[in-house]
Amino acid sequence: MTKVLVLTEARDNQLRNVSFEALAAAGTIAAGGEVVAVAFGANAESYANQLAQYGASKVYVVKNSELDQYTPDAYTQAIAQLVNEVAPDAIVAGHTAIGRDVAPRVASRLGLGLVTDVTAVEAGPVFTRPIYAGKAFQKRKFNDGKVFITIRPNNIPVGEADASKTAEVVTANVEIKDLRTIIKEVVRKTSGKVDLSEAKIIVSGGRGVKSADGFKPLEDLADVLGAAVGASRGACDAGYVDYALQIGQTGKVVTPDLYIACGISGAIQHLAGMSNSKVIVAINKDPEAPIFQVADYGIVGDLFEVLPVLTEEFKKVLA
Ligand SMILES: Cc1cc2nc3c(=O)[nH]c(=O)nc-3n(C[C@H](O)[C@H](O)[C@H](O)COP(=O)(O)OP(=O)(O)OC[C@H]3O[C@@H](n4cnc5c(N)ncnc54)[C@H](O)[C@@H]3O)c2cc1C
Repeated sequence: MTKVLVLTEARDNQLRNVSFEALAAAGTIAAGGEVVAVAFGANAESYANQLAQYGASKVYVVKNSELDQYTPDAYTQAIAQLVNEVAPDAIVAGHTAIGRDVAPRVASRLGLGLVTDVTAVEAGPVFTRPIYAGKAFQKRKFNDGKVFITIRPNNIPVGEADASKTAEVVTANVEIKDLRTIIKEVVRKTSGKVDLSEAKIIVSGGRGVKSADGFKPLEDLADVLGAAVGASRGACDAGYVDYALQIGQTGKVVTPDLYIACGISGAIQHLAGMSNSKVIVAINKDPEAPIFQVADYGIVGDLFEVLPVLTEEFKKVLA
């Protein structure tokens, strides 16, 4: 029977959505086998019910205080020990900042196969992942050996929660030693209203927004839509917003249901981070801007005229 271990992630005492997506991916890989999950930190136990409802039959809680905040050292040690103890056939984590950092460390320590940035999992299991900055997709299959996969947030549909399900909760004892780094303070640079990498709607601004104040109409629209605000590197380089908001090849890769690009030309490096969005709307005053080639809907116009009108109309519709 195939056993799949899901590494969950929480932020502000709430499981991140990608953890439920990872459980769904694990269900496909397990193909009727066992899906188990691990939660880290002081609140780990409180996530067990939710993890059970989304498919975990057993939840390992690892409560060492060194795991309250992510550090590569501590998490690599904990996960490697847990994998040895649980002996899964496959491990699934989110392709998040943490997943991207820890997966190769654990894979190399334990000699596991690694497939990163997976956007779809089919029976087999067969893993689909983008290559060449999203211009093509490849399918990967492992013939034998354990495999570690990281899944791109917002791509794998989450199954229905089943409130009747419960999971066995097991406290896992891991030994964490010889840490080379400790976290003294976490400084948040983004507003934190909506997590950019998991946002369903993103309103994104480019150099055409012209200033930090120019982002105000984008924020107004984002507030009405419950969206996150993102940016091109052009806008970040110009100092309008923090690099934490950058979307693209060297920024965050996002796959929202709706991406509204305002004053963004559509350079290939920007498209690498957002072209898999389900619906793309572009607002640009240049009708020849390359962003219109990937947009589902295009508005040729001045963003400072278009955005307030959109915001007012959405307010009416959503009221
Ligand atoms: C190695 C490398 C990595 C890179 N990584 C990234 C990355 O991760 N992300 C990224 O975004 N870029 C990245 N870039 C930079 C990328 O090549 C572009 O320079 C950048 O995306 C341009 O940003 P932009 O579209 O905001 O600016 P511009 O190209 O200057 O476009 C501004 C757009 O705004 C429009 N505009 C101006 N005023 C208005 C108005 N009032 N109303 C409506 N439209 C208006 C203009 O018509 C224009 O199309 C990378 C580049 C390199 C070389």
